[in-house]
Amino acid sequence: MKIVVLKFGGTSVGSIGKIKKVADIINEHKKKNYKVIVVSSAMSGVTNELVKKSQEISENFSDEEYDALVSSGEQIACSLIAGSLVHKGLKARSWLAWQIPIFTKGLHKNSRIVKINKNKILHYLKEGGIPIITGFQGINNSHRVTTIGRGGSDATAILLAKFFKAERCIIYTDVEGVYTTDPNKLKKAKKIKTISYEEMLEMASLGAKVMQPVSIQDARLNRIDIEVKSSFVNKSGTLITKRSNIINNKIITGISSTHNDSKVTLIGVKDKPGVAASIFKPLSKNSINVDMVVQNISANGKETDLTFTIKKDDLFKTKKIIRENKNIEYRKLLFTKGVSKISIIGVGMVTTPGVTFRMFQALAKKKINIQVISTSEIKISVLIDKFDTKKALAVLHKEFRLDK
Ligand code: ADP
Ligand code: ASP
Ligand code: MG
Repeated sequence: MKIVVLKFGGTSVGSIGKIKKVADIINEHKKKNYKVIVVSSAMSGVTNELVKKSQEISENFSDEEYDALVSSGEQIACSLIAGSLVHKGLKARSWLAWQIPIFTKGLHKNSRIVKINKNKILHYLKEGGIPIITGFQGINNSHRVTTIGRGGSDATAILLAKFFKAERCIIYTDVEGVYTTDPNKLKKAKKIKTISYEEMLEMASLGAKVMQPVSIQDARLNRIDIEVKSSFVNKSGTLITKRSNIINNKIITGISSTHNDSKVTLIGVKDKPGVAASIFKPLSKNSINVDMVVQNISANGKETDLTFTIKKDDLFKTKKIIRENKNIEYRKLLFTKGVSKISIIGVGMVTTPGVTFRMFQALAKKKINIQVISTSEIKISVLIDKFDTKKALAVLHKEFRLDK
């Protein structure tokens, strides 16, 4: 059976007109004799609205009910797509995750898909039906509805491609593919023809919203090629694949940026073994993700300054936890709400010396101050003032010739 998985993101199903267009795309694949499995996200904005409603009820809204609530947007989108196909005279129906089922493990709000039962969907495909499956949701051992993290429909699509051994997995979105940097932030951004899982994973984890990071991990583990393309224009997109399939002579493949980070600095922390653990343990217990960390060596050997970044949404909670932490002593606590992490990513930097220098020099020339630095084998990240983000993207894009 020649199967294709087509995933449509929120903007692709953002209005009735767009849903009708999606139905046309599905029909075109059907005409090519594919068995088509469709995955849809909620109409754009719907999930955010539902999250907001939960917050209006309680700051501590039940995790189980959060999942039941925010997963409902996908049901609406899927039934509208299925209805549109039925209207065209095609055999189609919506499938909610529990009806298949798609089984997940792990905590509510952030579960992982572990198994997808194939029987019912296979049967339906053989009858000539087009299943329109809700992304983002699953059920757990207790038969409760779960969700798999924001942007999770990408992972639903990739795991459906895995379990059904699909020939192709296409992610339809509102841009023409994966770009050297967010095309909505930098006009000069260029579409990338092919990108490795490793680079895409870094780009996504470091802020490129176009693909959800977990989904790229799943694709890499299962060696599933992903095509990312536009649902609005019929043009070739980007192929995400293994490194050995790619010929690339660029040092840097892409640049990512974040816009919702905050920086916390503890000045004059008593420097003794275990102090960092005392600071970070209660944060981790409260599910606060600490990202970049730097500790300055103290001049007198008794005190040190410690800086780290967190998501802006966690700032209030972090302040409270640090102020109430009896196990640490410090002189001053500083916060910067708006910082941005800019990262250059590319497997080419492994074999090319001087990339760090070029990055820092390019930023210095534009008088952009670097607050924190972190590196790994294929990426360099710097923390800067959020107002410098656009300038930094432009200068780095030029420095590494990404617009060529
Ligand atoms: P969908 O609703 O289809 O899931 P998303 O909003 O999650 O779409 O992702 C698409 C958005 O990702 C684009 O509109 C674009 O602004 C953003 N984006 C960020 N970085 C990149 C990048 N490097 N390439 C393409 N798009 C990017
Ligand atoms: N609708 C969900 C969200 O907004 C899942 C997704 O878009 O993939 O996060
Ligand atoms: Mg998305």
